[in-house]
Amino acid sequence: MNLIDGKKIAAEIKQEIALEVKKMIDKEERPPHLAAILVGNDPASETYVNSKAKACKEVGFDSSTYKFESNIEEEELLKTVEFLNNDPDIDGFIVQLPLPDHIDEQKVIQAISPRKDVDGFHPENVGRMTIGLPAYVSATPNGIMELLKRSDMKTAGKNCVILGRSNIVGRPVSILMSRTTEPGNATVTVCHSKTQNLAAITASADILIVAIGRPEFVTADMVKEGAVVIDVGIHRVPSAKTKSGFRLIGDVKYDEVAPKTSQITPVPGGVGPMTIVSLLMNTLRARKNEIYP
Ligand code: NAP
Repeated sequence: MNLIDGKKIAAEIKQEIALEVKKMIDKEERPPHLAAILVGNDPASETYVNSKAKACKEVGFDSSTYKFESNIEEEELLKTVEFLNNDPDIDGFIVQLPLPDHIDEQKVIQAISPRKDVDGFHPENVGRMTIGLPAYVSATPNGIMELLKRSDMKTAGKNCVILGRSNIVGRPVSILMSRTTEPGNATVTVCHSKTQNLAAITASADILIVAIGRPEFVTADMVKEGAVVIDVGIHRVPSAKTKSGFRLIGDVKYDEVAPKTSQITPVPGGVGPMTIVSLLMNTLRARKNEIYP
């Protein structure tokens, strides 16, 4: 069994990005600039936005955060989106989700200019991705594809089973894996809560991508000998063995599944580190006008 080391791959990509930024600065060009809109005080959202700012600093990007109280009016939020759409110094921005209930999330996402939609949630980018046009692909699916690419994974003709059909992971990954580009060209099956004989389907997978949101759901009997397993799940569980009092586990029961696989992503250190790096990659693309010349 080989480990797919997301932490190492993410660090390599960061180095490559930092080198590109250095070249820009050497040529007296402006570095990429990522902005984030943060509404309310949700600790997970705050942590995520802070990590993005830290990652920007590490690679030499500019970053800014627009913070609002949770009672902000939808109209004011939309005005900020419009302001960022028109600010020539901002290459891309994200609106940290979830938003409070009184705000229409889809309305806000659709107000973002597709050119600056580095989270890849705007329907225009989702549509472009689906038909194979250049598009901003959302961070986690993009990170998974980059992991496969950099691990030299041959996916053409393989039987790929995706466990989960969410708009942020399962669905876009299923589209990317069935596209005619590499990695891709796989024969894809998407499973969800209404799927029957789930274990038989997962056990037929050459590549099993798990984004189900259930701790250690996938057990050894659900996995084919020699399969590649990508575990997207992240769950914090109490642990007496760590200083912090908790540890992270995935959607896959790692200890029993790993020995059966040819390659597997660990949790932590697999898909997770690729997510923020994907956002940096998209922001660099935005700075270079690669998606929308
Ligand atoms: P989600 O929106 O909750 O979607 C879960 C999917 O799994 C749904 O399609 C659901 O089916 C399906 N499902 C749930 N229980 C099932 C069951 N018993 N049998 C079959 N299918 C079942 O989750 P998500 O946002 O995609 O996230 C999935 C996991 O990835 C979570 O652990 C999350 O924390 C993690 N995640 C990690 C990253 C990262 O950076 N590493 C990023 C995003 C998410 P239905 O559609 O029928 O309800």
